[in-house]
Amino acid sequence: MSSEQGAVLLCYHCGNRTFMDLIKHHKHVDSEEIADSYGYIHNSADFVRNWYMYSCKVCGEITVQRENWFSEETHPDGRPIINSQVVYPQVTNKNSDMPDGVFEAFQAAIKVRHIDGAICALSVRRALEKMCKDKGATQNDLYRKLKHLADTKVLPPIVDEMAYILKQLGNAAAHADDIVFDDGIVTSIIEFTQIILDYVYNLPAKLKRVQDLRSGLGTDNTN
Ligand SMILES: [Zn+2]
Repeated sequence: MSSEQGAVLLCYHCGNRTFMDLIKHHKHVDSEEIADSYGYIHNSADFVRNWYMYSCKVCGEITVQRENWFSEETHPDGRPIINSQVVYPQVTNKNSDMPDGVFEAFQAAIKVRHIDGAICALSVRRALEKMCKDKGATQNDLYRKLKHLADTKVLPPIVDEMAYILKQLGNAAAHADDIVFDDGIVTSIIEFTQIILDYVYNLPAKLKRVQDLRSGLGTDNTN
């Protein structure tokens, strides 16, 4: 293990993409023996989970990444299919059918959150506009689009609570030079968008994975 072990990652605390030191690694393996129809054990299947804790060289904050893979699921060339996601700080990961444009606009917002609050708010607005388009909302302004998605149950009915955030996003679009976006406002804008994106894209994908797992285990309710 070299002393320079680490990875180039986007720091969701300070917005820098930088080399981070790996300061802790934890691996957990669940193995299951695989027997043939005669009961002879030929192999074992491994469910592997890795956690990596990194420290940002710029701001000193911690990022935790989790990797999952299953030895029986591989690419055609035999490499394992690795599922990797940042689990701390809480971020929106693209592990669903979230369109690239939505994800990229949101990532752009995160990158500039401590550099320029108004540009961050504009990027968030762009991410939400793209999400609305993806989900078929065609109203004139963002508030009406989100309201339409809440009415059609794509979003939870929280549109009224969105009003303040949406006003800030509207301000960013109209008079970015005159409005001060302090850290508190930027943080609530980002948290709000994370909740929306997770609800629309990641939560259904997560539920489907759990359902697939249950049906794979042969769970039924016919007792
Ligand atoms: Zn950082």
